[in-house]
Amino acid sequence: MKILFVASEALPYSKTGGLADVVEALPKALSEMGHEVAVILPRYRGNKIASTIVSSLTIPLGDTLRFPALAEGAAVAGVRYYFLDDPEFFDRDGLYGNKSGEYADNAERFAELSRAAIEFMKRVWLPDVMHCHEWQAALVPVLLRTQYANDPNVRSIPVVFTIHNIAYQGLFPPAAMRRIGLPDELFGMDGLEFFGNVNYLKGGILFADYLTTVSRRYAKEIQTPEYGAVLDGVIRSRADRLVGILNGADYSIWSPEADTHIAQNYSVHNLDGKKACKKNLLETFRLPAENMDRPVIGIVSRFVNQKGFDLLAEVANELMKENVAIVALGSGQPEYESFFQALAEHFPTRAAVRIAYDEPLAHKIIAGADMILIPSRYEPCGLTQLYGLRYGTVPVARATGGLDDTIQYYDSKTGHGTGFKFDEYDGKALLQCVRAALKAFKEAKVWRTIQSNGMAKDFSWKASAAAYVTLYEAAKRSRIPRGVGSSKT
Ligand code: ADP
Repeated sequence: MKILFVASEALPYSKTGGLADVVEALPKALSEMGHEVAVILPRYRGNKIASTIVSSLTIPLGDTLRFPALAEGAAVAGVRYYFLDDPEFFDRDGLYGNKSGEYADNAERFAELSRAAIEFMKRVWLPDVMHCHEWQAALVPVLLRTQYANDPNVRSIPVVFTIHNIAYQGLFPPAAMRRIGLPDELFGMDGLEFFGNVNYLKGGILFADYLTTVSRRYAKEIQTPEYGAVLDGVIRSRADRLVGILNGADYSIWSPEADTHIAQNYSVHNLDGKKACKKNLLETFRLPAENMDRPVIGIVSRFVNQKGFDLLAEVANELMKENVAIVALGSGQPEYESFFQALAEHFPTRAAVRIAYDEPLAHKIIAGADMILIPSRYEPCGLTQLYGLRYGTVPVARATGGLDDTIQYYDSKTGHGTGFKFDEYDGKALLQCVRAALKAFKEAKVWRTIQSNGMAKDFSWKASAAAYVTLYEAAKRSRIPRGVGSSKT
């Protein structure tokens, strides 16, 4: 199959968050399965190109015309990369904004990306299916089913649209409709209008052939008011076309057998190396390493409301009455940074924090800690629990989104299960859950079983890529005209 990805960021070219990892790993996994995959991205500052393939596209944006180029980058792992090259729009310090906030012309910038992706299909490479990501690519299905609905070249191309985090919607004032050249008819309940504003994500949800999100549980959650970020009704209206497919972990980077950042490699067969990693972790955080039997809870996270550290703050004093140490790595909202700093000051031998984004240190924590704590308020998929499972670092998490789908509660009766989780978004529930984990930790054999169960799980991209292929095929079938004269537009 020929698959075209449209996204606003992807490694190895650009990254602000998890989207970039997915749009690197999934095309690679599909290519390994024998599919032909291309990715179209904006050309941001520093992105190197191999050649220009279209020197001047004509892109209408409201009353103006823009003339960006299309360029080709180097192929990586069999995946071809193409760029929308418009320096005025994309050769900037940040991807979506700078220190003063979001760029004022984001509506135009990403409308241009969607239009350019469709023109790219017409002129350069016609795929069997398009896979668009997040609000930045959400206008692709809107345009294909409206302004391009009578274009015989592209009107039957199916579109799969993935929501990685429903909280990010691409909201703009009503005047944006004119600025991007969309007709007023599309500014209504059945279009992009959303409480008086333009909502790009809503357009993607309504006009795509199939929708996916990054875990089955999150697919259910976003249909509820609690998790739907006010779009739950819109999602429910398309529930029959919504599928949850987990993101995979990249085990070539995240495996204790081969990790180059950790003190000693280890595997499920012999966990001696994990002890060395724990000692090294404590030393790195300048915590006394003589008491190696004391469990270490690790945290690697953005420090933002989503991640649930207000629950930890609520019960931290109670928790620290247990024989336990906490090491945390992260940065973000000042209140959480201060909370962890105060905790470290208050318990200098048992709590430490590094306020930073530090990949090697993240590896050291995932390898050296005994547990990884992820109390998220919501978590579309989550990666740290997948890494924890692989490294015998038992996840203790809130049962939400991908955390719930990938962690099985340990059942002492059957010996099955890979971690500990709690349902209620509540400090006491978190405390009770950590205590259950600490109790299990005291029984070496039980703990070893939980570790082995987790290390045996496979959350690589292989299974997920296969699930996407099944969906691409369904999307293709959904656009085949049913009988003469009943062509779906
Ligand atoms: P989210 O995408 O919401 O931040 P995920 O669990 O899906 O959460 O992915 C987070 C990724 O970012 C993980 O790979 C995690 O190791 C990494 N990460 C988060 N914070 C830091 C940090 N401060 N330093 C290094 N890596 C981090």
